[in-house]
Amino acid sequence: MSNCYLCNVTLEAHVDSSTKNHYEHVIPQALGGQLKTPGILCKTCGGEEFLGGKVDKPFCDIFTLITERLDIKKDRKTNSVGLDGKLHLIDSSESIDIILKDKILSNKRPEYKIDHNKKVAYVFANKKVAKSFKFKVQNELKEQVSNHSDYSIEIVSSLNDYLGVIEFPFNLVNNVFEKGFIKMAIEFALSKGVDYDTIKHLIDRENKTIKCNNNVIPYYPIAKIEEMMEYVRTGIDANFMSHSLVLFSQRRISKKGKEIKELYCFIELFGTFQYFVELSDNYIGENIEPETYAQRIIRHQDSDYKIHGLDYKDLSIVLKELGLDNKDVDGLSYEDICVKLQNIYDKKNKYIYDYKKNAKRIVDSIIRNKILNRNNDFLSMFKSLQPHFYWNMEEDTFHITFYRSRFMKEENPYSIIPEIKELYINNKEKITRYTYFKFKELGGFIEENKSV
Ligand SMILES: [Zn+2]
Repeated sequence: MSNCYLCNVTLEAHVDSSTKNHYEHVIPQALGGQLKTPGILCKTCGGEEFLGGKVDKPFCDIFTLITERLDIKKDRKTNSVGLDGKLHLIDSSESIDIILKDKILSNKRPEYKIDHNKKVAYVFANKKVAKSFKFKVQNELKEQVSNHSDYSIEIVSSLNDYLGVIEFPFNLVNNVFEKGFIKMAIEFALSKGVDYDTIKHLIDRENKTIKCNNNVIPYYPIAKIEEMMEYVRTGIDANFMSHSLVLFSQRRISKKGKEIKELYCFIELFGTFQYFVELSDNYIGENIEPETYAQRIIRHQDSDYKIHGLDYKDLSIVLKELGLDNKDVDGLSYEDICVKLQNIYDKKNKYIYDYKKNAKRIVDSIIRNKILNRNNDFLSMFKSLQPHFYWNMEEDTFHITFYRSRFMKEENPYSIIPEIKELYINNKEKITRYTYFKFKELGGFIEENKSV
């Protein structure tokens, strides 16, 4: 028996139309999230009136530019909230103040940008405003540019076709962005057996909503090897673009010399938006060495994979990949084995993949590339890679205990989170550059894969 974490109502063991229990999407369905879990939230709290409408919906609106362009199954629509933000234009360092409402993106204030290469002045404003604003731009062109008569003026009244990504975080009413991330982290933790007491400081039961606690921290690849992985990611990560969730606990010695245990959830959306949610700075449960969930957003193309025709060696590989062993097909004929495996394969969720195996593939691919190209930094890379990902490289004991959570310094692991916080204060430029790079990669990927 479990209870709804938001209103504490008792949830029945099963889910059907008569029960309060419901399947909660940990990552919102409107973002293509596939992970559903029963037994944590009741139907009412998960619905339009509370989390569904007040937290998930405005959160998903932030990603409209991405989800609209991709073939993502969308939720039913409700009234949307106007969101202020910045649109980062791809292939330029420019950004524009925008407002997003009812899926239409427009300029908050009329603006213009002059492209001196193309000799065009772009006027960003809705049609009505643009008419008068155009004269102002013409005048300023005259003042600024000697050959102004060579320039033309182009009016851009809708930004929807403009390729860019909305910048985060920005001043959102009610911390929409943070709440959305905290909600996912809480639900993933609860679904993995973390108890309510651990996360209760993040729940506002009175108002049935999520509390923000300055506990959303951006990820930055502090470890060299992770930096390398991120910079080559779209090229070698077969599962990009993806959503992933990683729950882990971390022991740390506080400044006063006391040992404390913290609980975090790393969340990555669209392979791009990477944040840690600090769930507890005084965690007393069992150690959690990553619990992971990972899924693609676009279905894999091998969905009509044919098992019939494979030889026995390949069949046994498929068998393992489906989580079965020889006992499951004992005594069956070749034909029957194929039918059985094909059925299981077809029912399998084609979006979900193994987070750890995927990290290993990326690391392997980097190693191969370095060996083949005889890079000079090969040895130094190996030195930093080995303790980060392998207990023992000869025995191929790959692990993700430190991946996106710790880094090695003088043979000891340290949490990356205080490092990131320090970077944020002393070298924010570095984080901005990284974020901008991720946006560009995402933009490029969307261009290649967009459905409209
Ligand atoms: Zn409830």
